[in-house]
Amino acid sequence: MATELKVLYASAEIFPFAGTGGLGDVGRYLPQALKKLGVDICLAMPLYRTVRERFRLEEFRKLPVRLGRRCIRTRVFLGDHQGIRVFFIDQPQYFDRPHIYGPPGEGYPDNALRFAAFCRALVALCETLSWPFRILHCHDWHTALLPLYLPERRPPVLLTIHNLGYQGDFPLDVLGELGVREEVVLHKGKVNFLKAGILSSDLITTVSPTYAREIQTPEYGFGLDPYLRERSDRLLGILNGVDYSVWDPRKDPFIPSRYGPEDLYGKALCKRELLRHLGLPSDLMPKPLFGMISRLVSQKGIDLLLPLIPLLSQGGYPVVILGVGEEGYQEALKELSSKYELFKPIFAFDEALAHRITAASDLYLMPSLYEPCGLNQMYSLRYGTIPVVRDTGGLSDTVKQVDLRTGKGTGFKFRLKRPCYLLRAIRRGIKAYENRGLWRKLQRQAMAEDFSWDRSARQYLGVYRKLLQTTPR
Ligand code: ADP
Repeated sequence: MATELKVLYASAEIFPFAGTGGLGDVGRYLPQALKKLGVDICLAMPLYRTVRERFRLEEFRKLPVRLGRRCIRTRVFLGDHQGIRVFFIDQPQYFDRPHIYGPPGEGYPDNALRFAAFCRALVALCETLSWPFRILHCHDWHTALLPLYLPERRPPVLLTIHNLGYQGDFPLDVLGELGVREEVVLHKGKVNFLKAGILSSDLITTVSPTYAREIQTPEYGFGLDPYLRERSDRLLGILNGVDYSVWDPRKDPFIPSRYGPEDLYGKALCKRELLRHLGLPSDLMPKPLFGMISRLVSQKGIDLLLPLIPLLSQGGYPVVILGVGEEGYQEALKELSSKYELFKPIFAFDEALAHRITAASDLYLMPSLYEPCGLNQMYSLRYGTIPVVRDTGGLSDTVKQVDLRTGKGTGFKFRLKRPCYLLRAIRRGIKAYENRGLWRKLQRQAMAEDFSWDRSARQYLGVYRKLLQTTPR
C-alpha cells in the first residue's frame, strides 16, 4: 500500500466530466487504479460549462489568482469521481463556454491564457491547502506550465505526454501575459507550453515504451526531440491500460450476443447483426469484416487506407469505419461509399456502436502514422478481433507479429508508410482468416492478452516513488 502518497492529478480532460479521447480515458481509469493501490489521489480540472450543467457540485472556496497583470476571478468546486475528490477550477471568463478547446477544428484564440490561468489556480489551490500533495502529476500541454508557477520549495512534478502532436504553441505576443521566463517557453519563435513542461518537470512519462524512444527522434519528435533527448534519463514510457469491466465480450451490454475465448459463436452473431444494421447481405458472413473506429485525422493513417478501399470492396470484403474528424476525410470517405457498396463509413461518435463494431469485426484496422499508445487495438485483442497495425508507438508494444508458419502472434504489423505495405499486412490477415484452425488459435492468443490498468498503475506508483527518492522536498 502507498497511503503516505498524496497526489494531485491535473488534467484538461477527465471522463465522465469532459473528454475528447485518450487523455480523458486515462483520467477516468488511472486514478481509480492508483487509488486501489493505496495512493491518496485527488483530481483537478477546469469547470467547463458542460460539467456545470450536468453535475451537482459543491462550492469549496474562492482563490486569489493572478496571471501577469490580470486578476482572475476563480472559485473551486468539489465533485466526486467514484470516491475520488475532484477540484473543479471555476474561471467563468475562460471556461464557461460551449467547447473544451474551441469549436470543432479550431482552438479558442485565448487558449494560452485559459490554460495558464488554470495552472496558476492549481498553484493557488495548493497554497491555500498548505501544500498537502507530495507529487503533482500533470498531463499534456494544458498543465505543462504548472512547474513554472511553483515556488522554489515545491513538490516534484511528473509530466505525462499523451500526444506530442499537440504542444500548445502560441504567437509570441502572449508571452508578456503569462508571467514566465522567456527562455523556457520559447521554441522556434513561438511560445510552446509543452517544451516548458519538458524542461521544468522532474520526470516525464509518455504512454508507451516505444513512443518514449520514438519521440526522441526527428521523425516523431515534432521539433521537440532535442529537448527530449536532453532529458532522456528522466523520460520513460508506461502503457495505458484497458478497463476490462467496460471492454469485455463476456459481459458487454452493448453487443447483441456475448462470448468468450472458449465459445466464439456469439461473435458470429454480433457480425450477422452488424451486417444487417449496415444493410449488407448475410451471405458476406464467410468473408472477413474489417472495422475501424477513429478520429478522422491524418495521424490515424487514413491516407494509407483510402486507396485500398476500392480494392477491398472489389474483392468482396466489407469495411466499416466509425469516426468523426476532418471535413476532407469525411468527404473522401463519403465519396468512396457512394461508389463501393461494401464500404460503410459512419460519421458519428457512438460508444455503443464502437462496441458492436469491435465485437463484430474479424480484422481491426489501425494504420496510424504515429500512435502514442492507442486503445482500440487493445480492445480488439480482447474481442478476438485481430488488429492490422502500423509498427509504431503503443501499437508496436501491444501487438505481436503473426508468424503464419507457427501460428504465434496476435496481429499483423507493417512498418513503411505506404499503402502497399498496409495492403500486404491486410493480405496476410485475409490468408490467416481463411485457415479456420489458425484463425481460432490467433483469436485465443489475442483474447488472452492482458493490458489491465492495474499493471500500468503499478508502474506509475514506481515512478512516484522514484520522484520522492530523487527530488528533495
Ligand atoms: P486518440 O486518443 O488518439 O483518439 P485512442 O485510441 O487513444 O486514440 O483513444 C480513442 C478512444 O476514443 C477510443 O476509446 C475509441 O474507441 C474512442 N473513439 C474514437 N472515435 C470514436 C467514435 N467515432 N465513436 C465512438 N468512440 C470513438
